[in-house]
Amino acid sequence: MKRENGLKIIILMIDGFGVPPEGWENSVYRKYCGDDFINLFAKHSVPVDACLGIDGIPQSATGQCALFTGINAAEIMGRHVQGFPGPSIRKIIREQNIFSTLIKKGKSVAFANAYVYFDLQKLRDTRRSSVTSVMTECSLGYIRDLQYLLRGEAVYHDLTRKSMSGDFDIPEITPSESASHLIKIAEENDLTLFEYFLTDRAGHKSEEETLGKVLSELGDFICALSKKLPEEMALIVTSDHGNCEDFFSASHTKNPVPLLVCGALKTPPPGKLKSLTDIYEFVNNLF
Ligand SMILES: [Zn+2]
Repeated sequence: MKRENGLKIIILMIDGFGVPPEGWENSVYRKYCGDDFINLFAKHSVPVDACLGIDGIPQSATGQCALFTGINAAEIMGRHVQGFPGPSIRKIIREQNIFSTLIKKGKSVAFANAYVYFDLQKLRDTRRSSVTSVMTECSLGYIRDLQYLLRGEAVYHDLTRKSMSGDFDIPEITPSESASHLIKIAEENDLTLFEYFLTDRAGHKSEEETLGKVLSELGDFICALSKKLPEEMALIVTSDHGNCEDFFSASHTKNPVPLLVCGALKTPPPGKLKSLTDIYEFVNNLF
């Protein structure tokens, strides 16, 4: 059912995407993502702390849990937990997350990522279920599969479908076409989430060629999204921790992450949202 009225929001969560300490203008992003991308982040993003008040290097399981539940999972666990959430963090996600909170308010939410190798049962059984997968499984009860992807009602995690083209008879598309598909999903929901994680993988590899390709496609995708946003739609881009902004290090960083807000919403003033845990309430209060 197409929803005609009200604010619609896209959240793009980019794994391992920190604010460059040398400034957007002088960063690795400038080299690969282009001037429009740099202007967008320089004008419309604020830095948000991802360290969660806990020593050590920020990690995905606790960072994403904080981001999508508002609960400081790193504090509860006493450490930053990497990769995929174990039973304790899964429990936190199942009790409260941005999907379940908005569904309780009568809002429609979508997880736009396509899963072509896993069905929901396999996803439930696997220990490699991400924070967003757990959230989707417990709050939505379905994932978007190959059929959704073929209809342009899902987005593949690499933005171009290239990494699945050896296994499926499906043509490659451009990041800009993927952006149009994401907007199409977002037009029919109040909140639409898409997760991109090749940035974190490329950051760990620390190979300039891989990182350059990933950042260039991501740049095209974000610039296309921001240009194609319908009037009533806002784009929020954020991350769980830094990584790819520091090309010389193969590990995560303690740098803040950007919170970009553009389109139908104004960017919050710097310092208003301080930590990853503030983003859940920020999004919740928009509805
Ligand atoms: Zn990582």
